[in-house]
Amino acid sequence: MERTEIDGVPVLWAQGPAPLSATLIFGCGGQDEIFRTIGVTHLVEHLAMSGLPRVHHDRNASVDLHTTQFTATGRPEQIVTFLDAVCRALADLPLDRIQKEAGVLAAEGGAYTDPTVAALLTRRFGVHGPGLAPWTGPGFDRISAEDVRAHAARFFVAGNAVLVLTGPPPEGLRLPLPAGPRAEHPTATPLPAQSGPAWSEHLVPAVGAAVLGRRGAAWVLGMSVLAERLERIARHHHGLSYEVSGETVPGDGDTALYAITVDAREGQEAEVARLLWAELNRMAEQGPTEEELAEEREAVREAYQDPRFLELELLETATRELFGRPYLSPDDRLARCDAITSDEVREIFRAALPTTQLVVPCGVTVDLPGVAEHACVDGRQLPPGRLFQPPALAKVFSREARVLRLVLTDDGLALRDPDGDVHRIRFAEVVGVEEDGAERTVFGAHGCIINVDPELFKGAEAAVRAVDAAVPAQLRYHRSALVGRD
Ligand SMILES: [Zn+2]
Repeated sequence: MERTEIDGVPVLWAQGPAPLSATLIFGCGGQDEIFRTIGVTHLVEHLAMSGLPRVHHDRNASVDLHTTQFTATGRPEQIVTFLDAVCRALADLPLDRIQKEAGVLAAEGGAYTDPTVAALLTRRFGVHGPGLAPWTGPGFDRISAEDVRAHAARFFVAGNAVLVLTGPPPEGLRLPLPAGPRAEHPTATPLPAQSGPAWSEHLVPAVGAAVLGRRGAAWVLGMSVLAERLERIARHHHGLSYEVSGETVPGDGDTALYAITVDAREGQEAEVARLLWAELNRMAEQGPTEEELAEEREAVREAYQDPRFLELELLETATRELFGRPYLSPDDRLARCDAITSDEVREIFRAALPTTQLVVPCGVTVDLPGVAEHACVDGRQLPPGRLFQPPALAKVFSREARVLRLVLTDDGLALRDPDGDVHRIRFAEVVGVEEDGAERTVFGAHGCIINVDPELFKGAEAAVRAVDAAVPAQLRYHRSALVGRD
């Protein structure tokens, strides 16, 4: 792998097969947004691409939780033109096109990561950093030109980019990005964990589980073995599911969230969750067999020999550089894989087992040994404060209304939901307030949502006034015109 620098941007390249492929990668993704500006990275990417002239070679752009990538494949002079145009556009975004692109993005509905993994992330990290993944936020039409400009100025700069090429840099290649330093990223600190494994329902298409661990080859091998086992058992043996997939999401320092998702035939979700939990436990008790480890090592070796691996390796190296993670050559990584023992894998799973979170699609109930139902709540007791109740008539006709209560406390809101669970949001931890006429929807940093609706709660205008007074104006917004009523 060769290395040079153009206009302050590190360039990594290695000779691969023609045609030349280039990816300009920035250390900026969904995790760098806040609830109020969810989607701003995607908006920057769309605005940058929207002004490019029509061409006949392949080009693309994408955003995930951690990076934004602009890619083109073609003749060297086409690559030069593409990269020059992207850099110029990023330096001077067509902000007058925001409303148009907002509509395009709302229709596209792209997410930064798999929805089941996204639910696991917000359970672990709250509505912050990678935990923003499942949220839509205020909507693309509620992102201001100033938000877009500030985001681009902070993240889409020379010092926060790396270019990778599958051949030598073509003649005349320039990367006219604004100067600027490598970006700092939000710390992905796990929320205070409950005392052990927990499950919860979410709007997810599959069953998922995640554990927290320290990054390393033992996890790579262990999760691959786990995925193999689940595929064999859930798919081939029981015919319960089609697809097992895994994802590693870096957390703070050298930690990572290791997620695995297993889709389930309708009605089989609870059974799939049971198998997932049983296999996690089996891994923590017995570890992988020698044969399984050998199989996974062989799979890693084979992947490294694939010619397509070159581009992945360049991207991996660029990402490590952007996030300050040490470079490991493929040989180093293979050597580490070879050194991992079954005992080591068993030990990391055993240590991580108490951090297990399971998510299941809405409406599914699971009953697993040692797994509690996740509670975001401060118990079932409402805190002291001013109490709001549904109108008397509603309480006559609706069981839910008889349970539902809203409390305005000294420092925030509490809600008793129709199940009797109490949710609490302190004003200091509000991440957004949606205003819709007389109604306010308050979003808390731990994932709770409290609806303050004078039609639902008698006299709640007073609570609305308290919310408006306590939450800074920049966190409040009018309901998006781009989303449906629900
Ligand atoms: Zn809650």
